Amino acid sequence: MFQKMERLTFRRLITLLLAAAGILLLLDVGCLFRHITGIPCPGCGMTRAHLAALRLDFRAAFWYHPLWFLPLPLLAGQFLFPNGLFRNKKWNTGLSIVLLILVVGVYGIRMFLYFPDTPPMEYQPNNLLHWIFSLIQGIL
Ligand SMILES: [Zn+2]
Repeated sequence: MFQKMERLTFRRLITLLLAAAGILLLLDVGCLFRHITGIPCPGCGMTRAHLAALRLDFRAAFWYHPLWFLPLPLLAGQFLFPNGLFRNKKWNTGLSIVLLILVVGVYGIRMFLYFPDTPPMEYQPNNLLHWIFSLIQGIL
């Protein structure tokens, strides 16, 4: 019973995140993390990568985000295999850890190679934190 409730809550969370992402995409807001900090997030370039893939420009898709092909199958997997891909929980945990290491590793490499001046890993100078610090600096 508890496990069923937990799954329903997780699905609701995924649905809410997808709805929020869809609204942000439609409003063309861009990356909220970058708007706030000025630094690109691990997912920056993912939208442009998917748009490039839709144009069948896979070279550009891999340029914008090397892991562009992962989110949709992972999302589908959440709904097709609600108990996890493997029967063994340790394997599912291991898969999650491998994916996390992959995402963080690719983010680190992209930040090292392309930050702060190569899109999509460029610094956004007019970010919220910069604005707040400038405001405080102006007061002091
Ligand atoms: Zn981002």
